[in-house]
Amino acid sequence: MKNEVKEIELAEKLAALPKVSLGFFPTPLHKLENISKDLGVNLYIKRDDFSGRNLFGGNKIRKLEYLLGDAKKQGCEYVFTYGATQSNHAMQTAAACRTVGLKPVLYLVAIVPVDENDIRSNLLLDQIFDAEIHIVSVQEGETEEQAEERSFVMAAERQKELEAEGHKCYNVPMGGASYVGSTAFMGGYLELTKQMESFNLHADYLFHATGTGGTLAGLVAGKKAMESDTEIVSVNVSAKDDSYLIHVADLANEALDHLGLDTRIDGFKDLHTDLNYYAPGYEIPNERAKIAIKYLASMEGLLVDPVYTGKAFAGLLDYIRTGKVKQGSTVVFWHTGGATALFAEKSIVGL
Ligand SMILES: *Cc1c(COP(=O)(O)O)cnc(C)c1O
Repeated sequence: MKNEVKEIELAEKLAALPKVSLGFFPTPLHKLENISKDLGVNLYIKRDDFSGRNLFGGNKIRKLEYLLGDAKKQGCEYVFTYGATQSNHAMQTAAACRTVGLKPVLYLVAIVPVDENDIRSNLLLDQIFDAEIHIVSVQEGETEEQAEERSFVMAAERQKELEAEGHKCYNVPMGGASYVGSTAFMGGYLELTKQMESFNLHADYLFHATGTGGTLAGLVAGKKAMESDTEIVSVNVSAKDDSYLIHVADLANEALDHLGLDTRIDGFKDLHTDLNYYAPGYEIPNERAKIAIKYLASMEGLLVDPVYTGKAFAGLLDYIRTGKVKQGSTVVFWHTGGATALFAEKSIVGL
């Protein structure tokens, strides 16, 4: 079912976009031999945890190649972004900015309170990358969302200050979830397709963790652009309602439009998100993820994280064991990174 014309068309359109080089692509794709035998499927893993120049890559590097390319093209000097204190995205943005001579400014909401005497993992790395860090604590009577909103207001004020001094600023939304970032995962989908073809294989299923939806939007847009029939199963890492499907479809359609492609996504038809594996909540561990992390580690010597990839991998295992994924299927698990969380606060790790 190779669609060479579509592949070439998509590659050409992506090549015309502004981009900086931040990692090593294509990321490796390899088989998980032991688990494949154990579960009766052909399971492959796409190693976007190996995307970066340092040890701590992840899916945001792919998006940042286009986002920072856009920032450079616009002549910006500072890059603002947002997340939780242990945000993988914020850390990868700080690293990526340093690679291309931009200055990172981070607004981080302290969902888990920060112990000043015990700064760990991504927040520690943010300091090593010498990012300008603003910690926004959640105040009495305030929800996380309200603290997040407040962090945007604080950032806007800081930007005004910098711009008044003649420093142009670029805004990367939380998770890098804009159509500019999502176009990167259209490229990711193309990259995976070509790798699978080189192995003479066709993916029946693709599993991945979904948060802000930027990765999913790009994958589903890439799938649509290439008229692929691989079923994408997107395991949610936090509570979402139907507005999520609309939001992701909008992002995907903006990415398709950005590339001048006229095909479109219908959020209710083209997206398959699963809310059964994130409970009790974002950044809160659960038993199934814990078992999945240990299973992968003991069967293959590989690591996934408790916040994203561990929950997605738990979903994948459950789909296979309950027969939702048929025996003998070819399945790809997209490793989106995040293993620094294994060194974060105990409440996040849960092991
Ligand atoms: C951000 C992140 C995701 C989710 O990607 P989105 O594009 O935000 O949906 C998945 N896994 C890891 C490790 C991440 O850091």
